[in-house]
Amino acid sequence: MADASCGTLYIVPTPIGNLADISERAIAVLREVQAIAAEDTRHSGQLLQHLGVRNELFALHEHNERQRVEAVMARLRSGDSIALISDAGTPLISDPGYVLVQQCRAAGLKVVALPGPCAITTALSGAGLPTDRFSFEGFLPAKGQQRRKVLQALISEPRTMVFYESPHRIVDSLADLLTVFGAERQLVLARELTKQFETYLSGSIAEVQQLVLADSNQQRGEMVLMLAGAVPSSDDDDPTAAMATLNLLRKELPLKKAAALAAEIHGLRKNTLYQLALDADNA
Ligand code: SAM
Repeated sequence: MADASCGTLYIVPTPIGNLADISERAIAVLREVQAIAAEDTRHSGQLLQHLGVRNELFALHEHNERQRVEAVMARLRSGDSIALISDAGTPLISDPGYVLVQQCRAAGLKVVALPGPCAITTALSGAGLPTDRFSFEGFLPAKGQQRRKVLQALISEPRTMVFYESPHRIVDSLADLLTVFGAERQLVLARELTKQFETYLSGSIAEVQQLVLADSNQQRGEMVLMLAGAVPSSDDDDPTAAMATLNLLRKELPLKKAAALAAEIHGLRKNTLYQLALDADNA
């Protein structure tokens, strides 16, 4: 239980583009706290000026978060309440704040998170892809080889996948998505959400890639990529046909080779088929 004499750490989302998206409660908290911790004080200073909030502002960003945590906690213990904001959207979502919140919670200090703008939920709710389950994957690695490795690991992910993406890498990332997932998987690129040039491009990976390559404006601004999850093929549910092929091939080939060929013919994973054949042999 938090000590009643201690202040509260408020996690306050700010707009991701449209300044009208800040909530009344967020503004009230920003006014009432004793100080505001911001990722970039100059950037947030402009927002606070726009909101008519005059308050102490100090920097808490990824490079000084660990050093600042003790001082912030000392202030909370002294009774001051503090709001944490990031440059845009919800703090801690690909933004600083995790160390602070984790340590405040561990120390029994009160943490209150406000709901508000976030590019993930905004993009997903307008995309038209399944949202009953989704997986947020953050930013993809900047280097091609690492990026493809991360994507490869997601090949069987059944949930809609959400990636934050940088305009400098969108063309390369689309090429890697195509390489790893093939041309047909559904993709949505949400750009400049809540802003003047908000755009959703949707279609197969190949279609979205073509639209982006054909118009350099689509390579600009802030963007979220959403990739449809893997749909288990009917052969996955019922590998009977693949097993029949495998048994035929086995008459002429070793099991491993037969499993690899049958898997390729039926669009299955060779290890799955190989294991099924071993299981059948041992039954
Ligand atoms: N904390 C933020 C949030 O709640 O969404 C995200 C911060 S992260 C450092 C910045 C990334 O979020 C951008 O590179 C982009 O991928 C995504 N993003 C932020 N604002 C966006 C917008 N208006 N439209 C599309 N994507 C946005």
